[in-house]
Amino acid sequence: MCWAGLACGHNGQVLSVTEGEAQERAELLADIGYDVFLDLAATPASSQTRVRFRCRRPGADTFAQLDLAATSEVRLNGQLLPPPDGGRVRLAGLAAENVLVADGVIADVGGMDPGLIRFTDPADGASYVLADGFPDQAARLFYCFDQPSLPCAVTLTVRVPPGWQCLGNGQARDGGDGVWRFGTVTGMRPYLFTVCAGPYQQVWASGGHGVSVRAWRRPALRQWDEALGRFAETAARALRHYERALGTPCPYPGYDIVFVPELTGLAGSAPGLMFVSETLLARMADPDDEFVTVVCAHEVAHLWFGSLVTMRWWDDLWLDEALATYLRPCRLHPASDAHGVCVTTWVRTGDVLAVNPVVPV
Ligand SMILES: [Zn+2]
Repeated sequence: MCWAGLACGHNGQVLSVTEGEAQERAELLADIGYDVFLDLAATPASSQTRVRFRCRRPGADTFAQLDLAATSEVRLNGQLLPPPDGGRVRLAGLAAENVLVADGVIADVGGMDPGLIRFTDPADGASYVLADGFPDQAARLFYCFDQPSLPCAVTLTVRVPPGWQCLGNGQARDGGDGVWRFGTVTGMRPYLFTVCAGPYQQVWASGGHGVSVRAWRRPALRQWDEALGRFAETAARALRHYERALGTPCPYPGYDIVFVPELTGLAGSAPGLMFVSETLLARMADPDDEFVTVVCAHEVAHLWFGSLVTMRWWDDLWLDEALATYLRPCRLHPASDAHGVCVTTWVRTGDVLAVNPVVPV
């Protein structure tokens, strides 16, 4: 994921995970699976987390991150644990197979600080929610081991008010009772966790076979539908381009593009989801604005670099960004169908991917 223009910071009470701590946890833990329930219909919002994980050295200690506004209880293998301190819960005497459960209230925040952000549309009074774990805010939403080197499976359930859509990292269905159940997404990291919810309306959808690409916006933006559709079509073309150029199918069955109110960055991409600032709308109206095309293609590339594969530690985040920019197609005009290819090959040298020079065709 990238968050162009993002500035964020801790609230001063939560300890950051160091590289050394992350390395220790990565050597200790394996097969992590999260079942997360978000209740966005409640006020305040709340979450319930059930984490299953394996420990390679039974008896060892570690910690998990949890930074909810209020925590009801945390249990490890049925045993009640002390409440979080500094955003951490100490897990002592791990078993080979472990189950951790926690629930509590999520803090609603705003401004430049991600986590759970609410927006009220002045045009119609409708509310929208963005739940976003990037870059280190996932513990504000649910209990987790949040670091790049601990991939996990996430199975999400969300309750939303009547009439809302719920879009996230996987494919979901409304059970008819306002409860959306998402399919399990593997290869996730907690910081990639993203949910966009609200009375969004669909404005574009790809047809035919392959990855389902859809675009969503709030009702007050309907005058921009032509530009939004053009943007979504560009994303779909970019996706097909990367599948051909990389020889690797898109790792996710769907890709939803959501124009999010009051987004703090320009755009972001997570598994199965792109979220875009409404501040780009004015430039989208110009079909020849190359900057919009570059942003779109860059975000789609993050489905492979930053989602499917990524760095072990944050020092190498630049590599996801460099590859997402460098691999973008030279042209994405509708008539070209993305036949221009900027980069054709790359080689692995040690821990760093080195990219060959641009090769237009
Ligand atoms: Zn990026």
